[in-house]
Amino acid sequence: MNPFEIAQKQFDDVAEIMKLDREIYSTLREPKRFLEVKIPVKMDNGKVRIFTGYRVQHNDSRGPFKGGIRFHQDVTPEEVKALAMWMTWKCAVVGIPFGGSKGGVIVNPKELSKAELEKLSRGYIRAIHMIIGADVDVPAPDVGTNAEIMAWMLDEYEKITGKKAPAVITGKPVERFGSKGRDLATSRGGLFVLERALKNMRAVKRKGALTVVVQGFGNVGYGFAKLAYKAGFKVVAVSDSKGGIYSENGIDIDAVTEHKKKTGSVINFENSRNITNEEILELDVDVLVPAALEKQITEQNAGRIKAKLVLELANGPTTIEADEILLKKNIPVIPDILANSGGVAVSYFEWLQNRRKKYWEEEKVNRKLEKLMKNAFDGIYKVYKEKGVSMRKAADIVAVQKVAEAIREEMM
Ligand code: GLU
Repeated sequence: MNPFEIAQKQFDDVAEIMKLDREIYSTLREPKRFLEVKIPVKMDNGKVRIFTGYRVQHNDSRGPFKGGIRFHQDVTPEEVKALAMWMTWKCAVVGIPFGGSKGGVIVNPKELSKAELEKLSRGYIRAIHMIIGADVDVPAPDVGTNAEIMAWMLDEYEKITGKKAPAVITGKPVERFGSKGRDLATSRGGLFVLERALKNMRAVKRKGALTVVVQGFGNVGYGFAKLAYKAGFKVVAVSDSKGGIYSENGIDIDAVTEHKKKTGSVINFENSRNITNEEILELDVDVLVPAALEKQITEQNAGRIKAKLVLELANGPTTIEADEILLKKNIPVIPDILANSGGVAVSYFEWLQNRRKKYWEEEKVNRKLEKLMKNAFDGIYKVYKEKGVSMRKAADIVAVQKVAEAIREEMM
């Protein structure tokens, strides 16, 4: 199954449980709009390379479309469609007035010079500018993009439209109308959810420092490892695309960050042993945190997972089959649309600050984020308990219910 088939299957399952009306089912099963673009970029060697990009708008019944832009060599139309659908659910789950969308460009950004990357980012906005806007569709960063890229994109958008419009894109640098606390928001939101889950769920007994492994050392994985380490969790393993490291005594996240800056990877770090990205998922720990890409926990390895709890900071890291295996093994999975919704939640705060032209201190951002995440968890936890379904199904039910209500209002 490709990611979109997975997303559709998850949707079909809850539509069935909820006995969703036919019209609403059909409205939500496919994106509302799918755009494919070609982006010519004059490379440093003088030759023109044509890149392919996408913007997928899934649903905007609860508010403007919202979702990041991914730069990755493995981007496919199906992946972007899945990510757009998950954004719709995510915004509903965390209770912010947005729908769902996603963008992607097929490119390995690590192979581009800074000048090429800037041209590509601006070219992408020229190609999609007609379908985005502060009240239409609001992009943000995702895998392979960052605040600096958002600043280039905003600048290009403002040049095209001849108007200042900071709220058209979120995840900007703080000095370019970004929000304080946005860079670590996905990770911080995940930690709030984890703390809440540990309080409520008996899957993991609190006895001393809990052990955590984090797959992925991009913005989200790195941020989570850092915050969890500071909060007193013992991070025993981390990994990036080149491989992972393990130390039963725990890893000093600041030191490994320095190491990665120097060497380009977390591997070969002192006082730890190298492990593969497959091994990292199967370690005997309290909390497993996939924070990389989709389809990491599959029917091949789910049976060997020993963690007591899975916190999905990546989007779509678990396949349908793996989900069932984990359910049978009584390993609760805190689903992506809840666990990683802190990023888009603070994107909403950024959008609000841009529109009101008033800027908040980080302390306020984090306090409001904590409240949103806890409320989101509690709402889903209630359905999880009442219906006796998995946390993913509970989250999907809450999300689809909210979106369906908005569509019903529109149809009246
Ligand atoms: N790309 C992030 C996500 O998947 C953030 C999206 C946003 O802030 O709009 O949730």
